[in-house]
Amino acid sequence: MNARLRGYRPAPLVRASLWLHGAALAAAAADPALWRFLLGVVLADHLAMGAAGLMPRGTALGPNLTNLPEPCARRGEVALTFDDGPEPGVTPRVLALLDRAGARASFFVIGVRARAHPALVREILAAGHSVENHTETHPALFAAYGPRAMGREIARAQESIIAAGASPGLFRAPVGLRSPFLDFLLARAGLSYAGWTRRGRDGIDADPARVLARLTRGLASGDILMLHDGRSAADPAGRPVVLEVLPRLLDCLAARGLRALSLPMALAAAEQAAAHHAREQAQVHPGEEQIVAPVAEV
Ligand SMILES: [Zn+2]
Repeated sequence: MNARLRGYRPAPLVRASLWLHGAALAAAAADPALWRFLLGVVLADHLAMGAAGLMPRGTALGPNLTNLPEPCARRGEVALTFDDGPEPGVTPRVLALLDRAGARASFFVIGVRARAHPALVREILAAGHSVENHTETHPALFAAYGPRAMGREIARAQESIIAAGASPGLFRAPVGLRSPFLDFLLARAGLSYAGWTRRGRDGIDADPARVLARLTRGLASGDILMLHDGRSAADPAGRPVVLEVLPRLLDCLAARGLRALSLPMALAAAEQAAAHHAREQAQVHPGEEQIVAPVAEV
């Protein structure tokens, strides 16, 4: 077994579904007359799993990073994420706007685009941002794929992005739709799933005011914001809406005292803060480990 799989534990809903399939098979073998009822039960289970996959911010199918950890929220940090690039003509201008504001972000890129524009991937990295996996071809029906095709989309994108010079540790599904196989496949690929707190819908809505309102209404420290540098909707003059929204969003973050980071930066800082907190606790309460350890071993 792949060493990285040791960390995989099916989510409770997935475990329940596996158990139900086994039980239905056993019951059908014991009493074939039950097949109609059992088929109904299995179909209902598939419907429940499908519904869970339609919730981009849900955790029923596996871990889903939809907010930054608590230490980030305490420090007034948010994460900016951009999907579907890299795109010549847009990504470099997004990078310039971020640079001017001193903001960092994560770019969930499409594998074939990373392969077509490796210089853009290197430009993103050189500016201090992270590049993450958003599938090889961004198929609309990704969540309906079987495990083999889904695994191929993830693995090929990882190869394409690594070939362009990045090393993704995070994955986001097209449109945020997932399936019960995804968590297992990500564990096998050494990736973690990253969702969002709020999205601008700037891939389909070209009205900058509406997109900005979706991102800033209720905006709070610890939020993960999702925009598009690739396939951004455009206004009648052909201007990608992300280029209209981003300067206003960055101004809004500054006015509220919020600092934009990439996801790996935020997660690393949160880990450091947690380790520091643990060290401080050990100093304040020395000897507790010695008391706790023997009890834990019993
Ligand atoms: Zn996308």
